[in-house]
Amino acid sequence: MKTFVSFAAVLLLASSLTQTGYAAKSSNDIKKELDAVDQQAHDAAVKQKQAEAQKQQSQKLKDRTQADLGVVLQAINEVSSQLSRVSNDIAQTEAGLRQAEIDLKATKQRILAREGMIDTRVRMMYTDGMVSYLDVLMSSNNFSDFLARADSLRMIVEQDQDILQQQEQDKQAVIITQKQLNTDYTRAKSLYAEKAQRKLELNAKENEKQVLIAKYNAQIENADDISTEQEQQLWALADQRATLFKEKTAVEAREREEQAQAEARARAAEEARRAAAAAAAARVAASAPADTSASDSNSGSDSGTDSGGDSSGNYQPSGSGMMTMPVVGARISSPFGYRIHPITGEYKMHTGIDLAAAQGTPIYAADGGTVVVASWMNGYGNVVIIDHGNGIQTLYAHIRDGGTVVSVGQSVGRGDKIAEVGSTGNSTGPHCHFEVRVNGTPVDPMGYL
Ligand SMILES: [Zn+2]
Repeated sequence: MKTFVSFAAVLLLASSLTQTGYAAKSSNDIKKELDAVDQQAHDAAVKQKQAEAQKQQSQKLKDRTQADLGVVLQAINEVSSQLSRVSNDIAQTEAGLRQAEIDLKATKQRILAREGMIDTRVRMMYTDGMVSYLDVLMSSNNFSDFLARADSLRMIVEQDQDILQQQEQDKQAVIITQKQLNTDYTRAKSLYAEKAQRKLELNAKENEKQVLIAKYNAQIENADDISTEQEQQLWALADQRATLFKEKTAVEAREREEQAQAEARARAAEEARRAAAAAAAARVAASAPADTSASDSNSGSDSGTDSGGDSSGNYQPSGSGMMTMPVVGARISSPFGYRIHPITGEYKMHTGIDLAAAQGTPIYAADGGTVVVASWMNGYGNVVIIDHGNGIQTLYAHIRDGGTVVSVGQSVGRGDKIAEVGSTGNSTGPHCHFEVRVNGTPVDPMGYL
């Protein structure tokens, strides 16, 4: 921003100088002004390169952060599925615990029932035994029958006790299972808490990455803003140079004319001197005393070295309106007008046409004129602007590094090779971005081709 302002100020200053000091200016003065503009342009280009590097750095950081974010999101996914696995485990353990509770209750009831049964039988045998024994004895046919019956009773009681023991063992087993389930439950709960905590941390990390990406996006966008500003700067430079070159040509023509006049005057004076000398010699030869009257040696100032005559000198505004295609056989990959920008995704005016061609394909001057910009500019990459006079200028952008074959101030003819196709600046692939401006306003180049 600051650089642009100071740069613009210099342009304004230079421009006011060229307007007010025109008559007194020599070609040397104009050369100095051009040098000053060149220096400013150079400084601005350096700043732009830095801004572009900063933008690329932001892009790199953004890409890296986005990759990090991908890793974090993947980890969040993993932890989320772990969480759902653990909560599944918890649900199962809870179901197991509920089942164990039911089992335990049932076993306890069975034990109680069995204990009751044994009690009854033992009481029957030993307490109320007399009745039972008597019953048994009474109903027995003989002593051995009685013994057999008593044995059976004892066996039943023993069997009851075996079953009871088994049931006690079952109860212990259920209690052990319950304990195990409780341990599992506690572990699953703490695992869940741990995973939930991890997820919270990952979410925080995700937020952090999103904030960083937003910051880098802002930096990248800011760099794009600068390039819009520099677009104006670029055209201001083109106009400034065009004006100075025109002036330079005019002043040089005037100086050439003045020199020619001076030479003519000198020649006339020399002729007069020679004529006088010859006359004197003739007089000497005629032995007559000399009297030098300069025969009116006023033949001078119509010498024809006018070099173009008018104030534009050799600056020939061609501006024919019919231009030649800058890239032969190119495909128009993007027309003039509003479009979705392929890099930023913004809906934006496309101020030229994109001519897609292989890297290194020659770019030709659409028309004759003077090269007013041949440098690097944010967004445009390596760029050439040709001033054709009559307020018409053409721009050729994204030239490959080292592919510019003209320099500022050079006159070019229509169809001369000026550069080679590249993909520098904001470009998705090798192409020549071609613009036509009429009095500073971009127009559809198709109307000129
Ligand atoms: Zn373009």
